[in-house]
Amino acid sequence: MSNLGPSNSVEHLPVGDSGKTAREIAAPDPRPAEDIGGTRAQVLTRQSKLPLQPTRDAEYYYPDGSIIILVETTLFKVHRSRLTRDSPIFESTLSLPNHPDAALATSEGRCDENPFVLHGEKAQRFRTLLLVLYGMPYELVQIFSEKGHLSDLIIIASIMHKYGFHKIEALAVSTMRPMLQLGRYPYLPPAEYLSLFDYSILADQTALRDDVLSIIRNRIMFEPTYAYAVIMFAMDRRHEEIWGRVLGLALYYGAIKGPTQWAQDSDWTSLPKDMKLLLHVSFSTLVDMKHRGIPWVHDCGDAEYCATKWLELLDQATTGGYGDFRRKPADFASWVCAVVDLRQLERYTPCHRAAALKYQNQANALVAGSWEFFEKLHRELIIT
Ligand SMILES: [Zn+2]
Repeated sequence: MSNLGPSNSVEHLPVGDSGKTAREIAAPDPRPAEDIGGTRAQVLTRQSKLPLQPTRDAEYYYPDGSIIILVETTLFKVHRSRLTRDSPIFESTLSLPNHPDAALATSEGRCDENPFVLHGEKAQRFRTLLLVLYGMPYELVQIFSEKGHLSDLIIIASIMHKYGFHKIEALAVSTMRPMLQLGRYPYLPPAEYLSLFDYSILADQTALRDDVLSIIRNRIMFEPTYAYAVIMFAMDRRHEEIWGRVLGLALYYGAIKGPTQWAQDSDWTSLPKDMKLLLHVSFSTLVDMKHRGIPWVHDCGDAEYCATKWLELLDQATTGGYGDFRRKPADFASWVCAVVDLRQLERYTPCHRAAALKYQNQANALVAGSWEFFEKLHRELIIT
C-alpha cells in the first residue's frame, strides 16, 4: 500500500460526476496536443493558461501498456483490456475514437503528447483504481479486510461506482460495513465521512447511508467543531431531502453551542456570513421558545390563561430539572426531555397534554435533523 498514504484523503469527491454519460466523463481534450505536453518554457511563460507539464506516474506507467491516459497532470500507461474488463463505462469510451480530428483520433492514447484525457477525475483516485485492478493478492487481501483503511475503501467504492466496476464496488462496501458500527468506527476527518455519505446517496446504498448518518450524528453531538464542517459541506446540497436532515442536525448542534463557545472555536470563522447569521438567529429563537413557549391548538376555551399556566408549570419543572440545557440555554430538546414528563401525562389537563406532545414533537424533530425549522428562519433572514 506504498502509494496510499495520508495524502490520499478524500476531498469533496467528484462522485457527482457519475450521472454523466461515459462519453462526457472521458470527452476528448479540445486543446492541441502541444498544449497538453507544453515545453518547460511554454509552461513558464504561459502559466496562467496552461496546466503543469504532465509527468509519468512512478508506478502505473507500464512500458508494455497499450493506452496512455492523462488524469490531471499525471500520465498513466496501462492495459486497455484491464480497464475494460468488468467496466461497461471504460468499455464504451475506450473502444471508440473520441477525438474529432481523425488523424489525432487514431493516435489518441498512443503517445504522451496525445494521451486519452480522463476529465473530472483526480490522479490520486485513479491511482487507487489501478492499485485494485493491478493489485497482487497480498495487497488486495490487506485492502479488502477489516485491517484495511476505511479511507481507501471510500475512494474505491466511489470510483468503482463511477466507472461501473460493480463487483469491486460491492466488495468495498461489504468490507467497510463492519467498520462503521457505532463505538468502533475509525477517526477520519469530517470530509471523508461526508464524502462517504455523498457516495451512499448517489449509489443508492441505503443501509450504508444509515450507518454513516449515525456516525455523522454521533460526531456532531460529541465533537465540538464537527458541526461547522458539516454545515460547510451540506449547505450546497440542502435541496436534497437527506442532506437537509444532515444540515438540520448540524445547525441545531451548532446553534446550541452559543456565542461564547463560537468565539472560542477557530472553525467558526470559516463559516460563511449567512450561516453565522442563521446560527445567531437560531440560538435566540431556541432560547425564546423556552421562555415564551410555542403555540398549540387549545380546546379549553381560555387559551391565554391556559398558556400562562403551562409556562408556569414548565418553569417549576425547570427549577428542579437537570440536563444539558443548564450548560446550553438554547438546547430546547434536552430541556423538553427534562421538564416535560410524557410518562405522567395524566397529571396534565387535556389541553396541557396536547402542549406536552407538541413540545415533544418539536424536540424530536430538532434532534432528528429538521431542515424545515432552520429553513423558515433562513427564509426570514433573506427577506429582511
Ligand atoms: Zn388550553
